[in-house]
Amino acid sequence: MKITDRGHGAAYSLIEGFYQTGIQKMNKRNYVGAALDFRIVDIVYETADFSMPSSDDFEAKIKDAALNFEECSKLIPKEVDYTLSKTTFTYGMQCEKRLFLYKNHPQERTPPDVITQKKFDAGHDFEKSFKDRFKHAVDVKKQLGKNFKQYPRYTFDVLKGSNFEYPYFAENKVIFEAGFCYDDVLVLVDVLERDNNENYKIYEVKNYSEIKEVTWWDLSIQYYVLSHILPCIEEFNVVLRREDGDFNVINVLAELRERLPDIEEKVGSFKQILKRSDIPDISMGAYCMNPYKCDFMEFCKKSQTNGQGNFSRKRYSIGSLFRKLLTFR
Ligand code: SF4
Repeated sequence: MKITDRGHGAAYSLIEGFYQTGIQKMNKRNYVGAALDFRIVDIVYETADFSMPSSDDFEAKIKDAALNFEECSKLIPKEVDYTLSKTTFTYGMQCEKRLFLYKNHPQERTPPDVITQKKFDAGHDFEKSFKDRFKHAVDVKKQLGKNFKQYPRYTFDVLKGSNFEYPYFAENKVIFEAGFCYDDVLVLVDVLERDNNENYKIYEVKNYSEIKEVTWWDLSIQYYVLSHILPCIEEFNVVLRREDGDFNVINVLAELRERLPDIEEKVGSFKQILKRSDIPDISMGAYCMNPYKCDFMEFCKKSQTNGQGNFSRKRYSIGSLFRKLLTFR
C-alpha cells in the first residue's frame, strides 16, 4: 500500500483510539510512534478496515511494530555523545591548542568583549530575518534549548513523522536547527528543507558579503556529517548578505564534495588531539586573531610570560602553522 499523509493520519487516529480503549499497557508514545514509523505504517493502515480493535492479532502486530520502533530508535539514542561540533571543529582549524583548551580547560576562557558580542548579535538578527521567510517550520532549538545531545533524536522523530508534537511533518517541510551526529561530530543546520520526494536543501546563513575561509570550514564539517546521513542532498546553500541588504543564496554543493576527504582526515586528527593528556605545544602567533580573536589569549600570554608548562620548550614557526591551515581546502 502506498504510504500517504492521509495514511499517517488514519494510522494515528486508529492507534490513538486503540490506546483509549485501555487494551494497551505499553507506553502511549511508543504505540503512536510505532504506527507512524514509515516502515510499518502500512501494517497499521492495513488493519484500519477492522472494526474497533478487539483482535489479539491486531494487538500482536502493534506490539511487534512498537518493538521495531524501539530497535530503530536505538540507532539514534535519546541522547547522543559527541566529541566535536561545528564550533569546536573551527577552533581546531584555527589552532589545535584552542580546541584542546576549550574542551579541557574552559574555565580559562576570557568572555567575549562588547564588540565581539555585538557581532554575534548582528549575525543572529540576519539569520532570523532569513528564517522568517519560512512559515510553519519546526524549530528544534525552541523545543530543546541547550540540550544539544537530544537534537539528533528529536530531528529524526520529526523527519519520520513519529514525533508526538509534529505527527504530520509532511505538512511542515522545514526544520530550523536540525541536529545530526556522525563520527562523534554533532552539527546543527540553520535551515533544512525537504521536498515531497525526500530531497533535501540546506541553508547556512552567514552575515558576510563573501565566503571566507572560516565559512568553508563551517560548511564542510556540516556536509561531512550530513552526507553520511541524509539520502539525497539536492542543494547545500550558503546565504550571504548583499550590499542592498537582501540575501545572496549560493549553492556550494560541488565544492563541498571536493573538500570531503580533507575533512575526514581533520576530524580524525582533532579527536586524537583531544585524547592527549598535555596541552599542545603551540606558541602565540597571527592566527590568534584570525579568523576570530581567540578567547584564550589571556591564558596563553600569561603562560608564555611565566615560561610555564610546555609553552616555552618548543616553538612552531608562524609560517609552518599557516601552511598547515592553508593545506586545508
Ligand atoms: S591564544 Fe593563540 S596559541 Fe593560544 S590557544 Fe588561542 S590561538 Fe592558540
